[in-house]
Amino acid sequence: MSLFSLLDQAATRFPDRGAVFRGTEQVSTWAELRARALGLAGAIRASRGPGTRVAVATENCPEIVELMFGIWAAECVFVPLNYKLHPREMADILTDSGADIVFASAKIGAALEPVTDLPRTVIGSDSYAALLDSAPWPPADIDPAALAWLFYTSGTTGRSKGAMLSHRNLMAMTVSHLADFDDPDADCSLVHGAPMSHGSGMYVMPYVLRGARQVIPASGTFDAQEFLDLCGHHPGTAAFLAPTMVQRLVQTGRPCPRNLRTVIYGGGPMYVESLKSAMAAFGPIFVQLYGQGEAPMTITGLRRADHVGADDAVLGSVGYPRSGVEVAVLDADGSLTAVGEVGEIVCRGDVVMSGYWNNADATASTLVNGWLHTGDLGSFDDHGYLTLRDRSKDVVISGGSNIYPREVEEVLLTHPRVEEACVVGAPDPDWGEVVVAFVVGSAGSDELDVHLLERIARFKRPKRYIFIDELPKSSYGKVLKRELRDQL
Ligand code: AMP
Repeated sequence: MSLFSLLDQAATRFPDRGAVFRGTEQVSTWAELRARALGLAGAIRASRGPGTRVAVATENCPEIVELMFGIWAAECVFVPLNYKLHPREMADILTDSGADIVFASAKIGAALEPVTDLPRTVIGSDSYAALLDSAPWPPADIDPAALAWLFYTSGTTGRSKGAMLSHRNLMAMTVSHLADFDDPDADCSLVHGAPMSHGSGMYVMPYVLRGARQVIPASGTFDAQEFLDLCGHHPGTAAFLAPTMVQRLVQTGRPCPRNLRTVIYGGGPMYVESLKSAMAAFGPIFVQLYGQGEAPMTITGLRRADHVGADDAVLGSVGYPRSGVEVAVLDADGSLTAVGEVGEIVCRGDVVMSGYWNNADATASTLVNGWLHTGDLGSFDDHGYLTLRDRSKDVVISGGSNIYPREVEEVLLTHPRVEEACVVGAPDPDWGEVVVAFVVGSAGSDELDVHLLERIARFKRPKRYIFIDELPKSSYGKVLKRELRDQL
């Protein structure tokens, strides 16, 4: 069973219907998409064996769909890089994954030039077009446990970890999506607003299986006006968006396009007031997911109907366990907590990763007795709804992107006039959270900004610097982050 079979089925059922669109323009039919993917697979297998990690570094573009399925037809591993990362961070992932084929957009390919020796094929170039014409690779059956996607999440230690997702994991995710959240057909469309290297890319699979159009905005990024235009243009539209993006839609003041059926939000906290105003503006089209790269998009959720007439406790929760997933809350001893008691959220099921790539220690502390330890704290209520209370890992989630304070702190501390630094998230109605850095030292905010921009992705940069004389510490010498948060 290979994920390629999803595309194969769509191409058999709907060969001549439009499959992939750049904005409003059709790029390929399902039969053409299958042919392009098999050509790419042939090009990959001409020089590489199964299991080769193939990196894809690009803004959202139509070619991601054929690359994904081409890589799977070749029995290789899809390693997408978030285009918002700093080139050095991308280089770390290339090294860690052991990728030896890289497909990149012209812009990202050029940015990678100083940091990697790996040859890059520019997506959309003549040499890329030549690969599509390679002898098609005959798709074969594949062990469902075979690695399909290395999903890179940042670790609290600052080192990126690759969650190993198999064909079985992603098939379970696909089935759960179709069972719980949406029931598209060939008259429907998936519009990619969020990065396809992460959340939005995961939804490609269920919509491809049903022959629903894949629509990639021509801008390659998220623009609320363009997004709404496309949702109005294409039939039966659905999309995955980070909570911040949902807010952007509401801020346009535009009505809900008639064709927009489903907006799946998640990946970060959606505040109740924001959700209510989104529902008031767009109607009952919202679906919430709670998941993480380690259990792709599938731990708990709230369906469309669950939002209708729901009280604040339900709207502020992350819903109930997804089909095929068992979810529990454990106390510090690993015992089940009572209703209402906060503990660590764990889950198990076919969707859960097999471990972290090349990182046995992290795997051992995350997968314990068959349960995935999410690092999130939460509690169940009497009716089985789960509420996230806090994130044990102190991760800051800004605009749907995870930012790990330790990583930003480490870079701040490399500045010669920074003595101490502590990074926390401050609640923000627009971004969910924003990064705030408490700094001890004589450096100014402008020079710290420059220092950070040279070293890490722009979106991880603090929005505010607060200069203080010393950081509050516990008697063990540990910085009291909670006290700093309270100051905000
Ligand atoms: P990632 O692996 O990058 O997708 O990040 C996963 C983390 O995002 C989870 O462990 C949660 O802390 C957070 N998260 C995901 N979905 C939600 C949600 N619906 N509400 C609040 N936080 C969420």
